[in-house]
Amino acid sequence: MRMETFIRKALGLKAYKVTELEDGPERVVARIDRIPGRHLRCGGCEGKVSLVVHRQAEREWRDLSLRDRPLVLVYAPWRVRCPVCGVRVEKVPWAGRWQRITDALLAVVARLARRLSWKETAQHYGLDWKTVVAAVHKAVAWGLGHRRWKPLRVLGIDEVSRSKGQRYLTLVYDLERGRLVWVGENRDAETMRRFFEWLGPRRARSILIVCCDMWAVYVDAIREKLPQAFIVFDRFHVVQHLNRAVDEVRRECWRQLTGEERSAFKKTRWLWLKNPWNLRAEEKRRLSILCRQVNQPIVRAYYLKEAFQRFWDYKAPGWSEPYLRHWLWAASHSRLAPFVRFARMIRQHLDGILRWTQLSVANGALEGMNNKVKVISHRAYGFRKVDTYITAIWHACGDLPLP
Ligand SMILES: [Zn+2]
Repeated sequence: MRMETFIRKALGLKAYKVTELEDGPERVVARIDRIPGRHLRCGGCEGKVSLVVHRQAEREWRDLSLRDRPLVLVYAPWRVRCPVCGVRVEKVPWAGRWQRITDALLAVVARLARRLSWKETAQHYGLDWKTVVAAVHKAVAWGLGHRRWKPLRVLGIDEVSRSKGQRYLTLVYDLERGRLVWVGENRDAETMRRFFEWLGPRRARSILIVCCDMWAVYVDAIREKLPQAFIVFDRFHVVQHLNRAVDEVRRECWRQLTGEERSAFKKTRWLWLKNPWNLRAEEKRRLSILCRQVNQPIVRAYYLKEAFQRFWDYKAPGWSEPYLRHWLWAASHSRLAPFVRFARMIRQHLDGILRWTQLSVANGALEGMNNKVKVISHRAYGFRKVDTYITAIWHACGDLPLP
């Protein structure tokens, strides 16, 4: 088979032929022309058209590489007269509108951009970053339109802040399948209204469990719209609140120390928050020295935190509930204001926390998704635009089909 025919077949061209092939050292250029008499497609409605008006300037599209050299298609599109849309530029079969790369290259770029950062993907194919962004946008739009639905049973609702600016996105996951199902800006009642509007009553019916943070907006909306579902407060969010309480105690202690005492206390933030089995030997030694001052508020806070964490290990509700109630009593009498507040919050959400012991389906699933999203925001090259950030999250977490 001649190379021209091969390219024509590979691109699935019916109304076009390859007229010339330039085999250069840097790239292979295939010049394309229409076969006279064959129908073209309208760029507006994609319907068949036969009347051509005049020719536009030549354009180039990058395609996949032939061995190590990129293939470039060169073609001057026609303006066509469509009975429906009037005069339009024709739709070429190898690429969508405004695309500078072919659909085939777009698909492989989008696939690689799931593995690598977009910058690395651009470097790998010798494209500029914007072309990769456009490719991922297209792939995500395609994927969202071709999603296959399975009944949602375990939802996870989480929020991520965009940059330090406290601007939030609410993310909703199908925790059973570990994939994102919905994204909305902000985290207020309006966001939840939009989510439930999107969800619709039919999809809502199958939901049995919702994992989320003790955030009143989420909790109220779930209780109202999904009365059949159990709410489970996610371990990872509860621990965040717990660590915040420890940190508040630490800062209060710091304020009360004299200059001399401060030197031993400096840079201990992570010592108090880390799980003990993650501490290095040196950290363990430092912590045990600090813990000798038993009556220090921070030491009491530390022991309370560690005692709380034991709750997660209980397998039987008959044991976990008395344990937690006992802990709550101790925290409420600890004379540590942040722990008194934390205990009050836990009491208000006790059902959803005790359920953890029975419904361990989603253990760590929400945290896993949250970590994945964090990685994306750390790769924050140019994610200043919120829709680019959202696209990146969809691409990595949506488990969307690729074109
Ligand atoms: Zn048309």
